[in-house]
This record gives sequence, C-alpha cells and structure tokens, in this order.
Amino acid sequence: MVSRIIPVDPFDLVIFGGTGDLARRKILPALYRRFRAGQMDEQSRIIGAARTELDARGYREMVGEAIGEFGGGGAEDARGLQEFLDLIDYVTLDARGETGWPELRALIREGRVSAYYFSVAPRFFGDLAQQLHKYGMADGNCRIVVEKPFGRDLESAKLLNAALARHFDESQIYRIDHYLGKETVQNLMAVRFGNMLFEPLWNSQFVDHIQITVAESEGVAGRGEYYDRAGAMRDMVQNHLMQLLCLIAMEPPAKFDPDSVRDEKLKVIRALDPVRPGNVVRGQYEATETRPSYRKQVENRDSATESFIALKVLISNWRWAGTPFYLRTGKRLRDRASEIAVVFKDAPHSIFGEEAGRHRNILTIKLQPNEGIELGVTIKEPGPGGMRLVDVPLDMSFAEALGPEADAVPDAYERLIMDVIRGNQTLFMRGDEVEAAWAWTDPIIAGFEDDAPPHPYATGSSGPDEALALIHRDGRRWREIKA
Ligand code: NAD
Repeated sequence: MVSRIIPVDPFDLVIFGGTGDLARRKILPALYRRFRAGQMDEQSRIIGAARTELDARGYREMVGEAIGEFGGGGAEDARGLQEFLDLIDYVTLDARGETGWPELRALIREGRVSAYYFSVAPRFFGDLAQQLHKYGMADGNCRIVVEKPFGRDLESAKLLNAALARHFDESQIYRIDHYLGKETVQNLMAVRFGNMLFEPLWNSQFVDHIQITVAESEGVAGRGEYYDRAGAMRDMVQNHLMQLLCLIAMEPPAKFDPDSVRDEKLKVIRALDPVRPGNVVRGQYEATETRPSYRKQVENRDSATESFIALKVLISNWRWAGTPFYLRTGKRLRDRASEIAVVFKDAPHSIFGEEAGRHRNILTIKLQPNEGIELGVTIKEPGPGGMRLVDVPLDMSFAEALGPEADAVPDAYERLIMDVIRGNQTLFMRGDEVEAAWAWTDPIIAGFEDDAPPHPYATGSSGPDEALALIHRDGRRWREIKA
C-alpha cells in the first residue's frame, strides 16, 4: 500500500492562545507531525498570538520544548525541528484591546488561506471575531476554528453563534470536536456505507441495542474548577457522545460532503426522545487510600456535579424505534477505554439446542486506547465433543491489517487542522447541530436540580451500582470496561 500525502497550498495559521495548554500539547505537535510528513511546506506560517509577553525567538523555544515533550515521532531530528521552527512567528496580543492587532495584520499575507484558531476561553470568541473584522482579516479566504466548550446551554450557544455570524459565514466556521477526527470514527462511516454487509442489518429489526462508552481512568486533576461547573453531561455527552451517536444512527447521506453528512446528523438529534429522569444515572467518584475524592479535587465539598453519567436514549424514527442506545462516560473508572458496541439480536431459532448457549454478533468500534473494529462471530469450537459454539472476533485492528502504514495514521488534531486548511467541514459541527444538541441536553440538566446528588462510586469501578441497574432492568448488561 502506498501512502498518499497530498501537500496543501501555503497558508497562514494564527493560534490565539498559542502559549496555552491545548496549543502546546495538541495543536503545535500536530502541525509539526504534518510538516514532517511532507504535507505543509516552508512557505506556510504559524503565528502564535497570546497575552504572554514573548518575542518570536522565545516563542520558538517554547514550541521546541512542547514538541520535545508532546511531539512524538521524530522530535529528536534537530534539523527537521529547526526547519519547522523557522515557520513560526509570534505576537503579543490582547483579545479585548488593541495591543498586537496591527502587528498581526502585517504578518498575514494576501491571496492565500488564513486560518485563525481560537484556542482561548470561549468568553473571548466574540472579541476575537470582532477584532479580526476591525483589522481587515475577516475576508472570504479566512477560516476560524473554535474549541469546545461551545456554550453551556442553548442560550449561550445561540449567543456564541450569533457573535461569530456577525463577521463570518457558516462556511468559514469550524467547530472542532476531536472525536470526529479519529481514524476509527471515519472508518465507522466507511464500514457502514462502503460495504453491503452491514447496512441492511443496521436497524431495530436486527440490532438489539447499542452501547457507547467513553471511560477514563484519571480524575479531574488540573481541570477541577472548569469541570465542576460543567460535569460529565456538558463536558462529554453533549458533544463527543452525541456526535458518535449521530454517526452510528444517521441515515446514509446522499454524498460524503459536509452538508449532506451534517443534515443527516441533525435529523438524528431532532429525533431523540426527551430522556426521562429514571433513564439517567449520575455518579461521583470517592477517595482511595492514595487518591482524593472528586469533591476534594475540585475543592468543593458540597459539589453535586457528576463525574459519571449513564443514560438510556431512545430515537423515535423508523430505523431505530425499539432499539435503545445506552451511553456512559466517566472519570476514575476501571480503565481508559472507549468504544461503540452494536449488539445484534439473537438468531431467531437455535438449531443447536439449548446447550449451545446464547450467542450474538457484536460489532465493536474501538476508539481508545487502540483504534480498531472488531466483529464477534459465532463458530464451532474446534475439536471433538459435538457442536459446541464459541464467539471469536474477526479483528480489523489497523496495526495488523495495514502494517507500518497504521503507525503513520494522523491523529485527530492533525487531520482536523489539515481539513480546515483544505476547507473541508465534514468533520466539524454546524451551528444548528450544536444548538439542537443543547436543546436536547438542557432539560436533562435541568432535571438534575430536582434530583438527588450523584451516587458515589469507587475509583477503579465501572461506575455506581445504579448505572448497572439502568441496563439490567432491561435484561441487558454493560460490556466490560477494558483497554
Ligand atoms: P490555557 O489557560 O492553558 O491557555 C489560554 C491561552 O489564552 C494562553 O495562551 C493565554 O495567553 C491566552 N489568553 C488569555 N487571555 C487572553 C487575552 N485577553 N488575549 C489574548 N490571549 C489571551 O487554556 P487551554 O487549556 O489551552 O484551553 C484553550 C481553549 O481550548 C479553552 O476554550 C478550552 O476550553 C479549550 N480546550 C482545551 C483543552 C485542553 O486539553 N487544554 C481540550 C479541549 C478544549
């Protein structure tokens, strides 16, 4: 297999918040890896812009260190790194004042794509949009990238959308959800819509239920203040889990283009039933001998914020009526493991008799730590002893199937940033999608206020017992959380 890297035309990328955690951990290392892969050339420019007082040399040093720490794959090559650092510039800039804006304007070159990455707190999004317009940088060639959280409810999301829409067309706005940039998430679409095998079975007639799990083993250390105001529902479900749900549940789009895909996702969100309070379980992790409790970590001993949530979600449309989607996500769970499991129904009749046991096909899309797709099929257990059945995986692990090429698969940020430069919005959320997601989420969150506090759960467990009961009462069980 020959890898095909298509270089992009020279561009200017401005990272507002270029000295921040996200820029250093994700954005800059991602750009470096794309540079090394030969996708961007030495004509492109990356300009850090933040409040931190620095000159270009100081910033290049910071970037070099960040790549050394988070870059992976080749930061040891001093020449390659130096060539990359030569693309980098910096301006000290205040989103809410005039400082730095004329200098930034002077660095932007006419006649090529410019992208502005808003890697700052959302309260600055409106100011940045306004200043870009004021200084003549909000032209038709430019794009803006905005990070999560995109609002904390429908009302704030609408305000954010309106602030951006004042100066930018929707086709210029890239709302990033890095889950959508994962290789397997795109593979999910390839598997669904590129094969004849799955689509005919992809409905409530054949699918018993679907589980989406995003489990983390770490707590909220370092992000306590933000997290305690958000909770798992806002931080994970409203964006990442809902995006995964949409891709699993949507109708086949007519074309693989941004609006066709996003129209279909939007229809799924609009078809979601409101979630009854009895179909939501919230949890909060407890301390161990060596690790502090959630409340201790967020320094709020009365906190009623959930670090875990499980929901049973129903979709009212022809395809999915009767097939529940069970969603769960949380911190300090047993393992860091994320997957989507499509659990098919039992065969209607077992010709092998009761003793053959119960067997069902499960298609598992694994998102982390290792990406891959696995299909569980039932076969005869080898050897003598009659017709004993066993479930084995037909494994589509990328590493094995694709060999060394799998290692070259770009990570989510690499892919998404290059999509911004290429002008491909397919993997980004449209404004109406985000608003529809909040419209569904808001009443669930409002329900928490009348609810009891979250249920405590042990660090390293699968969440509170009540979450087990949520699925057990339907005669089903959660899949094991296992990396
Ligand atoms: P951070 O606090 O580490 O960095 C903030 C950056 O904004 C700094 O570079 C700072 O100089 C700059 N800044 C602050 N005030 C400014 C002003 N008035 N004018 C210009 N620049 C200013 O934050 P972060 O963790 O890098 O997060 C940035 C954004 O990305 C936030 O919206 C956050 O929610 C989002 N996000 C972060 C992560 C992550 O892993 N860190 C993940 C997902 C989303």
